[in-house]
Amino acid sequence: MSQSVNHQETKLIHAAGNGKGDPITGAVNPPIYLSSTFHQKRFDTFGDFDYSRSGNPTRQVVEEKIAELEGGARGLAFASGMAAISSAFFLLSAGDHVVVTKDVYGGTYRFVTEVLNKYEIDYTFVDMTDLDAAAQAIQSNTKVVYMETPSNPCLNITDLSALIRVAHANNCLAFVDNTFMTPLFQNPIALGADLVLHSATKFLSGHSDIIAGLAVTKTTELGEKLAFIQNSFGSILGAQDAYQLIQGIKTLGTRMRQSTKSAEKIANFLETHPIVKDVYYPGLTTHPGHTIHRSQSTGYGAVLSFKLPTKKATKAFVENVQIPVFAVSLGAVESILSYPATMSHAAMPKEERDKRGITDGLLRFSVGLEHVDDLLADFVQALNYAKATLTEQEELIGKAAY
Ligand SMILES: *Cc1c(COP(=O)(O)O)cnc(C)c1O
Repeated sequence: MSQSVNHQETKLIHAAGNGKGDPITGAVNPPIYLSSTFHQKRFDTFGDFDYSRSGNPTRQVVEEKIAELEGGARGLAFASGMAAISSAFFLLSAGDHVVVTKDVYGGTYRFVTEVLNKYEIDYTFVDMTDLDAAAQAIQSNTKVVYMETPSNPCLNITDLSALIRVAHANNCLAFVDNTFMTPLFQNPIALGADLVLHSATKFLSGHSDIIAGLAVTKTTELGEKLAFIQNSFGSILGAQDAYQLIQGIKTLGTRMRQSTKSAEKIANFLETHPIVKDVYYPGLTTHPGHTIHRSQSTGYGAVLSFKLPTKKATKAFVENVQIPVFAVSLGAVESILSYPATMSHAAMPKEERDKRGITDGLLRFSVGLEHVDDLLADFVQALNYAKATLTEQEELIGKAAY
């Protein structure tokens, strides 16, 4: 891209390589190439494309775009975030070991504990807010340190540069799930990461419409290895969904900034509410990871979590809140309220959930694009219903007790 393009917002909109649309027709949107196979013009030479599992021109547009946005050598688009994540783990071999952040996405937890282990790849979960603990978890056969920051659902912050240095000092690859921040706010490759992963189902597509995953490698060499796995494993993003994702990415800048602004207001409001026990949002100066997050990201994001004193109060809140959908997922134009204990982290045993602070009163809120005053008013009235369920003693469990 030309020298004058210095901002992610511009890169989000204009196609990598050619800023002005399709090189043949000038169409500002890329064509959807619904072709599984490609005519080979000569007996003994292949063209750029042969079969859409190995490569598709529409998919290639989004793959080049995410590589450019993350500042990596190679981008690859998968059928889901989990397809990208599991394919990345298949870079490993039997006998290897991985160190994974303890509050990793529930599906990643399931994959590591119930699929990878069948291939004799061992794992250790560790609290990555504690650098020493993370360093100590690395063994002689550790090949990957897997990070997620801010983490899901308690928004814990990992010091990316520091832990990536530790990983590299121990000859490990550093993988980062960058779903919550997107390339707009955080670029792990610039901080040294070898591989960046996204559930593009979330902010990147942004409209609760498609399931998609993306991976970006720092080097061409690692990119080729992952492309080989993508082609072998076959869980590629279809051309129509690739198109839909390209359209979503174009508006990421405006969506993310607006939702983040609203999330900051909502987090501040919740922090002062008498029955709200804890608020987890890296934008709050009271958040233990606030300073580290500021040093490695340019925004706080649109996801926050908070705790109500009892399960009954939580149920009353959910049943009375009007605007957000109550659902799994996040990162969409509509606000999404979810209950991690039975939704995103249902795959995790209760004992493991409790260790990670995913208790019965925890709610996660992904802030959409509704007017923030409407969202705040909605929260005020739903919290009143929650409050009405509490005994005096239970109310004291809330912040008022401190
Ligand atoms: C949703 C999510 C995933 C999984 O992505 P899918 O597209 O649902 O397969 C991985 N990591 C994080 C942080 C997520 O939020």
